Amino acid sequence: MPVMASSDFSVHREECDRFDDGMALSNLPDEVMSIDDLDCECWSEFDSLAELE
Ligand SMILES: [Zn+2]
Repeated sequence: MPVMASSDFSVHREECDRFDDGMALSNLPDEVMSIDDLDCECWSEFDSLAELE
């Protein structure tokens, strides 16, 4: 499940340690159109958004 960081609204995986506090999301935000929009290492094992489904 993705998590939106409350500090800068970046989106991370739950197990990411790059945010202090965040809000769990049931779906990725509409602004996220490609895996490149998720600019954190915690997504690096994915090549495309399709793999997240
Ligand atoms: Zn992250």
